[in-house]
Amino acid sequence: MILQPDIMESLFTQAEYEAPIEACGYLAGTDGQITRHFPLTNIDGKEDHFSFDPQEQFATLKAARQEGLSIIGMYHSHPASPARPSPEDVRLAYDPTIVYIIISLMNDTRTVRGFYIRKGEVVEEPLTIGENTNDQ
Ligand SMILES: [Zn+2]
Repeated sequence: MILQPDIMESLFTQAEYEAPIEACGYLAGTDGQITRHFPLTNIDGKEDHFSFDPQEQFATLKAARQEGLSIIGMYHSHPASPARPSPEDVRLAYDPTIVYIIISLMNDTRTVRGFYIRKGEVVEEPLTIGENTNDQ
């Protein structure tokens, strides 16, 4: 999965802004390339849990569709824990086709990793930080 540097920067900026609560949102793109991110409100306002605001979630899915984008991932932050899915993240992962991106700020160190979660099984998806190769 290719993640553009400006999007990665935006995800960390959002995570740092929202900390100590978890930040969250959707990722859109095509062909294994994340080209857009859609920040969403964590209506739980918790430090170790997030839930999307249902109205925002609906509006975002609609906006993505209107732009011809597919939702290919979800992201959330772990302000004080490692960049891997928690047992709850695994339990709540409902879509085996999207990549789950986790942004960790633990120990003031920025870490981002991606995973597919299928029937409780976690498989890391390597993230390549790169520019949009279609432009070259
Ligand atoms: Zn989590």
